[in-house]
Amino acid sequence: MSTYDKPLPELTEDNRPFWDGLRERSTLTMQKCDACGHIRYPIGRICPECLAPGGTWTGLSGRGEVLSRIVFHQVYNKAFADDVPYNVVLVQLDEGPRMFSNVVGVPNEDVRVGMRVRLHCDPVTAEVTIPRFVPEEP
Ligand SMILES: [Zn+2]
Repeated sequence: MSTYDKPLPELTEDNRPFWDGLRERSTLTMQKCDACGHIRYPIGRICPECLAPGGTWTGLSGRGEVLSRIVFHQVYNKAFADDVPYNVVLVQLDEGPRMFSNVVGVPNEDVRVGMRVRLHCDPVTAEVTIPRFVPEEP
């Protein structure tokens, strides 16, 4: 955790609970609509299902499955030059939301659609912990 040259999220009052949950509790924390119960991601001020404002920040299990996968070989941002080839996955979380991330700890060719995964917190700066995933143990 010395120098981190890759793009970082901008922490705002709207998204800080998400990043605090990862940093402080190693937990995916998302907004649950108080009106209809829908858990939403990306973070937003209004429920996309019923348009109710607000919601309650709720800790998730951090478990899900790989819905889609791709391996990047091209360097689109020079900060990632040492990482190619790397995978990018769309994870279907058990609670409903989907998020883009990476599966780490296994070779890219072992990342499969349908693979069960669980959250792996990757602290990259003092403020930012990136949510990645590892295969769920059998
Ligand atoms: Zn709602």
